Amino acid sequence: MKLATMTVDGGAPEIGLVKGDQVVRLKQALPGLPTSMIELIARWDAVRGDVERATDEAATLPMARVQLLPPISNPGKIMAMGLNYADHVREGGAAMPQHQIWFAKCVSAVHAPFAPIQVPKVSDAVDYEVEMVFVVGKRGRHISRAAAPGHVFGYCVGNDVSVRDWQLRTPQWILGKSFDTHAPFGPWITTADEVGDPHRLDIRCLVNGDVRQNSNTREFIFDVYEQIAYLSQSMTLEVGDVIYTGTPGGVGVAMKPPIYLKAGDRVRCEIDGLGAIEATLENEA
Ligand code: ZN
Repeated sequence: MKLATMTVDGGAPEIGLVKGDQVVRLKQALPGLPTSMIELIARWDAVRGDVERATDEAATLPMARVQLLPPISNPGKIMAMGLNYADHVREGGAAMPQHQIWFAKCVSAVHAPFAPIQVPKVSDAVDYEVEMVFVVGKRGRHISRAAAPGHVFGYCVGNDVSVRDWQLRTPQWILGKSFDTHAPFGPWITTADEVGDPHRLDIRCLVNGDVRQNSNTREFIFDVYEQIAYLSQSMTLEVGDVIYTGTPGGVGVAMKPPIYLKAGDRVRCEIDGLGAIEATLENEA
């Protein structure tokens, strides 16, 4: 299943079941269902059968009629992995990581999948990072690798937008990774059962139509389930937490000389089976 958070005609946020180029408005097809994605995920075991069977012509719209919001607007936390594809490690000249490298993106950076991304006033070193994102479906701590698949609700396409001068001027990356508008993801959540094995998906980033990043999630150094096992040794993973799983090679900072994004550029991130997100860069007002 594909579940979107969206608005219709400027109304309140609601959840849609995406079917091809159509979307079923669940609040109409299934009144009484939660209208927040985190609440829906929390009740998923009880409601999934109803959602799966939701068909209601009167509640169905063409996708073009809806505005997509971040699938989860208020995750409890966003964690992101550094250096998780071998080609990205090599292009940066870093050593292969012996341990998983994690940082946080602040929740205030959450951004809709097709909304303009800001070039901040204080930098002209804005860079893209296409990443597979997963959404936690079940709370847990000290989750074993074997149990980890049961804790994934689904997957999205993300762009870990990075302000490189701010990221790299200090050992902690959090400010450079947390500018407003710099955590877009979507276009919707594709549920884990529909994705199957998440470690065989082509992943790409295009800037103004040029392919800049082109890889496959099989190139992960640490796969999704190892990520869950490791992260959950430190912290409880909660329903609706959003995890960025690392980016492949081809980022702008690694080019010689570096090429950064500027106002007017179009950045498209896509992953087979999960869809695409796309945005124009614009200068912060
Ligand atoms: Zn990243």
